[in-house]
Amino acid sequence: MTIGGFLEEYTVSKTQNEIKNLINITPTTATLIKDNNTEKKINAKDIKTNDIIKVLPGEIIPGDGIIIDGNSSINQAALTGESLPVDKSTGDEVFSGTINLYGSIIIKATKNGEKSSVNQLIKLIESSKPENAKIVKAADKWATWIVAVAFVCSIGTWIVTHEILRSVTVLVVFCPCALVLATPTAIMAAIGNLSKKGILVKDGESLEELAKVNDLILDKTGTLTCGEPEVSEIISCNDKYSKKEIIHILASLENKSEHPLAKSIVKYYKNHENKTLKEVNDFEIIPGTGVKGKIRNDELIAGNRKILNKTYETELDDETTAVYLCKNNQLIGAVLLSDFLRNNAVEVILNLKAMNVTPILMSGDNKNTTRNIAAKAGIDNYKYDCLPEDKSNYIKELQLNDKKVAMIGDGLNDAPSLKKANVGISMGSIGSDISIEASNITLIHDNISDLPHLFKLSRKTLKTINVGIVFALILNLIATILAMFDLLNPIEGAFVHNIGSVIVIIYASSLLKYK
Ligand code: ADP
Ligand code: MG
Repeated sequence: MTIGGFLEEYTVSKTQNEIKNLINITPTTATLIKDNNTEKKINAKDIKTNDIIKVLPGEIIPGDGIIIDGNSSINQAALTGESLPVDKSTGDEVFSGTINLYGSIIIKATKNGEKSSVNQLIKLIESSKPENAKIVKAADKWATWIVAVAFVCSIGTWIVTHEILRSVTVLVVFCPCALVLATPTAIMAAIGNLSKKGILVKDGESLEELAKVNDLILDKTGTLTCGEPEVSEIISCNDKYSKKEIIHILASLENKSEHPLAKSIVKYYKNHENKTLKEVNDFEIIPGTGVKGKIRNDELIAGNRKILNKTYETELDDETTAVYLCKNNQLIGAVLLSDFLRNNAVEVILNLKAMNVTPILMSGDNKNTTRNIAAKAGIDNYKYDCLPEDKSNYIKELQLNDKKVAMIGDGLNDAPSLKKANVGISMGSIGSDISIEASNITLIHDNISDLPHLFKLSRKTLKTINVGIVFALILNLIATILAMFDLLNPIEGAFVHNIGSVIVIIYASSLLKYK
């Protein structure tokens, strides 16, 4: 029994250490705005009182503070349990760990940052304790019934034989230790295995679910592509605005957005121009479409063709992604960007198909670009022009057809579908905080080539659990019958029983090393 206990403890602590390592290399970051108006990424722990911090849409607020510019809706569920977002604007207090939804805000820190990321760590370690997993509770429930049956058999044996020793032996061998141990040990070992590879599993059940998944929905920008598109062309559609002005206005707007396209536009601007960005007010993102805001008194809106009147659609459509810019409802320019497939994408898709997982590409981008990327990656099914709700509705539809669906995505717009899917997988470094929060599993290093391993390991885990349980049940059954017929004494019974547990644990912990 002690050996069994030790082995289980060993697996648990090994896994918790791996999780700790993983968290330590991925600290929560904050965007500090320095006195000379430049930005710097710092560790959230290093925030000092009175620091000025920029928080983009979809980001977790990295420290407690007061909004000094901008307005947004904040999801405070992590703090208060209230899932309805709360509108906040200049002067309102915001709290570390809550999620900024649609606006871009500047906050002034009211506390030093030390604690926030530590709390997150504690939360994760707590949830990774085996006794907190739901499936473990299910196994415990089973065990309760088996114990009840054991009593009945034991008493039955006594009634028939009047031999107290026999009925005690029945009790000893019937106890479902191995059964109860099989599931948690396997899950813990699998989580430890994945943590070593940089895959963070937030709940054990999602591994069991993943083993049964038929369809994998993939997001395009940032997931299947590198998410660092390059500006290939700037177009002016109105004589009053030069190309320089178009990119200046666009970069000013996009500086408040978290989207990979936005980051590329801002980066391009900073590399090529040196004028400071224009002040943007009333900024808001339109998920899956673009962004809008006011510069002085002009209404500006930038995004895909959903922001346009139909007439312009065919003139600019191309295989690259276009970001259109409208001022007071008039198209004034556009910027073309091209993104590249991640270099391991083709192999990953091949591997997934070989495992009978159907990949489906769902993108908010236009038809040509989406089709193009799907073809390059070897994906046969694709959907384009998807709004966030289109993605989650499609997942619902698949689920109604008895499919188990996994979704992998990186963006703020993917969060609803990551929640909706049976298993949500997020990208840890390019991904926005809100998508990481909504997912069950996170690829910390954005390494999609780990996906086949993840799927294979989940199936192996399920198999290990089932084999462990069947083995334990059969062993118990045989031992019980032997005990009933007086072919096993209590000491032998105890021995057989514990050997059984140890075998199940060793078998389950072997998942730690699965390659
Ligand atoms: P994907 O599903 O491919 O990851 P998204 O759903 O994030 O793409 O975005 C869909 C489309 O919406 C983008 O292809 C882009 O045209 C437009 N879009 C979204 N956010 C922005 C933004 N900040 N600036 C410009 N365009 C945007
Ligand atoms: Mg995306």
